[in-house]
Amino acid sequence: MSIEDGATSQPDPAKRIAEIRARIVTAAAEAGKDGAGVQIIAVSKKHGVETIERALAGGCRLFGENRVQEAQAKWPALKERYPDMRLHLIGPLQTNKARDAVALFDAIQTIDREKLARVLAEEIEKSGRSPDLFIQINTGEEDQKAGVAPAAADAFIAQCRKEYGLDVTGVMCIPPVDEAPAPHFALLKKIADRNDLANVSMGMSGDYETAVQLGATHVRIGTEIFGPRPA
Ligand SMILES: *Cc1c(COP(=O)(O)O)cnc(C)c1O
Repeated sequence: MSIEDGATSQPDPAKRIAEIRARIVTAAAEAGKDGAGVQIIAVSKKHGVETIERALAGGCRLFGENRVQEAQAKWPALKERYPDMRLHLIGPLQTNKARDAVALFDAIQTIDREKLARVLAEEIEKSGRSPDLFIQINTGEEDQKAGVAPAAADAFIAQCRKEYGLDVTGVMCIPPVDEAPAPHFALLKKIADRNDLANVSMGMSGDYETAVQLGATHVRIGTEIFGPRPA
């Protein structure tokens, strides 16, 4: 019996992930794509260690957090116990937290300005760690949202590579909440393709099937795996 059926009424994260995987494969097939390789990032922000442990015990090894400090409080001991797990930073990164982020995360998805690129390059050099690096694109050009404007993306990616020697491998976006996500996903995929970036992080609980059909390699899913986030 899964935990989901039990007295706690907590979702069983591994079971949820298996269901999401099946839906990804179906959605991808509808678009003539193979969804088997799509990476499902379990977004555990605001959830406690107990919930995360349930996911780890069920076999989940890929997680996302959006705040460095919160992740530092939750993850170092878990990483020691599960050395094959990987942690992605999916929220904004302040330059004064760059060192901590490089030390803790296996991927940083939110590079969006020159100063951050420079500081990350320094910290990567010093630490000898090399997290996967993604550029965040503000596809909706929203003032309140982080990310590089689409028109500035190619130049910024080139600058990260040439000037700072960053091994950029992907892009990510968070479409505006009040718009259909598909045009944003299509735009992000186009930016990835023309810059030779293999990794495309897009799609959340409400729209991951659309994202996969438009070429997502990584989907970031919180609510559908863990239930509503604690306040
Ligand atoms: C919280 C968050 C998610 C997950 O959102 P859900 O709707 O709960 O799946 C995905 N991406 C980012 C950047 C987030 O901050």
